[in-house]
Parts: sequence; C-alpha cells; structure tokens
Amino acid sequence: MAGRLFLRGFSRATLHQLRSSGAGRPLHRAVTTERGIPTDDEQATGLERRALQALKQGKDPYSILKPKSYAGTKEDPHIVPCIGNKRLVGCLCEEDNTAIVWFWLHEGDAQRCPSCGSHYKLVHHELPK
Ligand SMILES: [Zn+2]
Repeated sequence: MAGRLFLRGFSRATLHQLRSSGAGRPLHRAVTTERGIPTDDEQATGLERRALQALKQGKDPYSILKPKSYAGTKEDPHIVPCIGNKRLVGCLCEEDNTAIVWFWLHEGDAQRCPSCGSHYKLVHHELPK
C-alpha cells in the first residue's frame, strides 16, 4: 500500500518536472532549435547555399530564375550570356514555327537573326567559383 502511494506520487512529480523542463516534448520538437523549424538559409549547404546567397544579392549565377524577356529590337536586343566569345543561338522566329533557325552569335555588337531580323547581343558571363 505504501509502495503504491510512493510510486504514484513519484510518477506525478517526475511527470511535472519533465513537462516544466521541456524534456517531455515530442522528439521532433527536441531536435529543432528553440525558434522553430530551420529555414532554407539555415540548413542549406554547398551549391544550394551559394545559390541562395547569390539570389539575396540580386544575382542569378546558375540561371535559376526565369530569363528576362526582351523586345529583340536594336535598342533592346535579346541578351545571350556566354563564357566564351561566341555561342550558337537558336531563334524560333514566329511563335508557331516548327523549324529553328540556328546561327553563331559573336562577341561585339548586336547581330540579327538571318530569318526574322531580331537582334541578339552576346554578353560575357562569369561562372561562380
Ligand atoms: Zn529569328
């Protein structure tokens, strides 16, 4: 009888202590920080971390974001990033065309597509280190 009372009192006191100290929390709460679930910035590593840091600075070194659209005129040519001094460009001259017009775009002034006349300009792109 005394053993039962002691055991019951001990278990209530122990449960109260565990709850007040936070040790009785579920496992998924115990492994996270006190602020809650870690954000992508806090848990990203390697290439993902470098890409997130670059996006914060307004850069897109891995072309993750949707490319900006250009009018294709002489004043607003299509910008083609390149790590070399020339790049093969495919122009889908009209929206419903089934054939792509391929041509080499060289460094320097904007060039025109031989079929539709849209302007393209090669811009040097530096790869992230
Ligand atoms: Zn074209």
